[in-house]
Amino acid sequence: MNEYDSEVMAGLLKSGGYSLTEDLGKADVVLLNSCYVREKVRHKILSKLGELGKLKEKRPDLVLGLCGCLAQKEPGKMLEKAPYLDFILGSSNFFELPKVLEEISRDHRSGSGAGKGHVAKGRTPASQGQIVRIEANGLVPEGLPKLRKRKFSAFVPVMRGCDNFCSFCNVPYVRGREVSRLPHDILKEVKGLSCRGYKEVTLLGQNVNSYGKDLEEEIDFADLLALINKIEGMGRIRFTTSHPKDLSDKLIEVMRDLDKVCEHLHLPVQSGSNRILSRMNRKYTREEYMELVGKLRQAIPDVALTTDIIAGFPGEEEKDFRDTLDLVERVRFDGAFTFCYSPLKGTKASEYKEKVPDKISGERLRRLIEVQQEITLERNQSLVGKRLEILVEGVSKKSLHELQGRTRGNKIVVFEGKEDLIGKLILAEVLEAGCWALKGEAIPC
Ligand code: SAM
Ligand code: SF4
Repeated sequence: MNEYDSEVMAGLLKSGGYSLTEDLGKADVVLLNSCYVREKVRHKILSKLGELGKLKEKRPDLVLGLCGCLAQKEPGKMLEKAPYLDFILGSSNFFELPKVLEEISRDHRSGSGAGKGHVAKGRTPASQGQIVRIEANGLVPEGLPKLRKRKFSAFVPVMRGCDNFCSFCNVPYVRGREVSRLPHDILKEVKGLSCRGYKEVTLLGQNVNSYGKDLEEEIDFADLLALINKIEGMGRIRFTTSHPKDLSDKLIEVMRDLDKVCEHLHLPVQSGSNRILSRMNRKYTREEYMELVGKLRQAIPDVALTTDIIAGFPGEEEKDFRDTLDLVERVRFDGAFTFCYSPLKGTKASEYKEKVPDKISGERLRRLIEVQQEITLERNQSLVGKRLEILVEGVSKKSLHELQGRTRGNKIVVFEGKEDLIGKLILAEVLEAGCWALKGEAIPC
């Protein structure tokens, strides 16, 4: 979602006459679009802001902006740490960027207020004249320009915000409540992408399975997939993320029946212990989760399943962690994003007393990764000899002489081929499998 918002910001700037540069030395405006899923983000952002502060000392006219979830959650603290920031835009305010830059450039011209670049020491943030907009209501206007990073595969948000309040998570606080986009607007965006040659869309939402609940029109996520599936030229549909508590039989059927919907589901489990799941406020049990997996595999035998897991959640004992390892071994995920629990101020879990020492969390994370990597390798090896459809994304990141693409199950395939294949859907035979990628051979059509 954060990447998508950055694409909109870049699009807004481009239509305002700016051009994009990765070279800090050339930039007139520098934006940091912050995520805030774990505490680590804060350290990264503060260190980057420190660097930018030094640049701003040399070039006082440089305009610096902090956007996104960290900006949303702690605007005051961020301004205290980086008083040279010219503006802060929260996670639902990024579209105000052109207006804010216009205000700043007006101030620059008149030599007053925000953006002057010289902030006297000891002044409080409120008196420094920075612009701060942080209304987290999830409402973002339609039809904003975008400068998309990828040319064949695009992100399309279907909803913003989240109503679930998992006890560890910042999202409901920094992105507000669930707001679904109208089907008409989503379809228009996907049709536009298809006309411009895009072959794949990834529909985004914190919990796509609750899409439509806030709309007047009677529509759910499965219905939306069926509408998008009819769009000519669009080859593949992906989506993320699905909350297990809302994964319906109807959605499983639609995934099975619609030709363009990829056989991949990211279904974060977070823990395999019922006691911890309840403390996380996830609203499902390990048995219910495993039952869902059973239904999915029965309906779509070759479905690729990925997940998110947190190790070291407050109160997690060795026995709970073993339940997680046990679930991982039973489900046999294709891949997992694994995290050490990170306490986030303002969330319920950050108040839980029974902290797991960092050393133990780290150790559990290492064990979890080890188990999962072995399973990922075995799952990948089971694909050797199969012919799979891949969307060719570009030159391989590891070898300039090879191309890389992605299967419908979201696995990377590296293969030899000419660059004119980039952007095409082709068939490839899997020759070898590693943990991170498959090696394949393109099959001539
Ligand atoms: N909406 C998705 C869901 O419900 O599964 C998850 C979105 S969250 C932004 C992405 C992942 O970050 C979560 O699934 C969780 O594993 C991880 N995460 C979120 N808060 C965390 C925290 N405080 N500490 C560690 N990991 C966290
Ligand atoms: Fe966070 Fe839970 Fe919402 Fe996912 S469903 S974004 S983990 S609160």
